[in-house]
Amino acid sequence: MPPSPKKKNSGWALLAWVLNGLGVLALLVILIFYLSQNSALAAVDPFVTSQVPRPTRTPAPTSYYLPTVTPNPQATEIEDYSSPTPFVFTSSSSLPNLIGYSVQNRPIEAYSFGQGENQYLMVAGIHGGYEGNTVDLANQLMVYISQHPEVISTGSTLYIIPDMNPDAVARGRNVDARVNTNGVDLNRNFPTPNWTANWDHSNCWNDRPTTGGTYGGSEPETKAVMNFIGSHHFRAMISYHSAALGVFPGGVPWQSASKDLARILSHATGYPYPPLDIGCVYTGTLADWAVENGVGAAVDMELANHRDSDFSQNLKAMKALVNFNQ
Ligand SMILES: [Zn+2]
Repeated sequence: MPPSPKKKNSGWALLAWVLNGLGVLALLVILIFYLSQNSALAAVDPFVTSQVPRPTRTPAPTSYYLPTVTPNPQATEIEDYSSPTPFVFTSSSSLPNLIGYSVQNRPIEAYSFGQGENQYLMVAGIHGGYEGNTVDLANQLMVYISQHPEVISTGSTLYIIPDMNPDAVARGRNVDARVNTNGVDLNRNFPTPNWTANWDHSNCWNDRPTTGGTYGGSEPETKAVMNFIGSHHFRAMISYHSAALGVFPGGVPWQSASKDLARILSHATGYPYPPLDIGCVYTGTLADWAVENGVGAAVDMELANHRDSDFSQNLKAMKALVNFNQ
């Protein structure tokens, strides 16, 4: 008896129905999963279901058209530390004494602290530009002394010229702003016996062309300081520089009292004495001219770098200076 085709057909039909059922079930599962995902998205993203148009994102530009800056061929490795606002010292205890003007008619001022008979002097900023941290130091010392006047001994008066080369300081804190507006190195411009317009630059600062001026004392900044020193009787003075070479006594050869002052200041600050010898012969300097013209003792003193004012060391140096009696 042949197998019943009806039976065979019903087996295949059952299988088809089962497969159909599974397919429908799978579609239902997918549909439910899809709907639940959409509702979750809708909870966090209002743009999925609402009619609010999705904001468009502006793509970041792929290039910018900025004006090109022509690099300065004299650009230096010295960082520019300039402050946008110039420091103005105000104190009821010390009014500035106008001692002269720069080439560009900026005032050069001296401040005095204390009323004693023994007079002392600090000069900062003779080299502007990258040595402008000496001006920062002078300004900080003036603020401190005005708040603590007792640091000046009863018998002493301290004068501070915080910025001897204001044109250069105004040009910024870079190597190009070392000299005054006439391109003169003011610490080569004092009329000492060894003054010269053009010294041997080979072992000295040689980054830019500069001269000692047309004659010793040719610059108005130099004249201002010479007149000021000439009208006082300073026992000792510090001319501030940066950086790192140490404390240089005034005089050619070094004057005895200036060597004593250098030793004392080196002890107070930790700056090297004897100073580092780089083989440079210094001509027409303020410290040399000062001791040759009646100042009891004088030094060129260099801060540790071109950035910091080394305030705490130089507060000690200032106290040592106003107690220097030789
Ligand atoms: Zn200097």
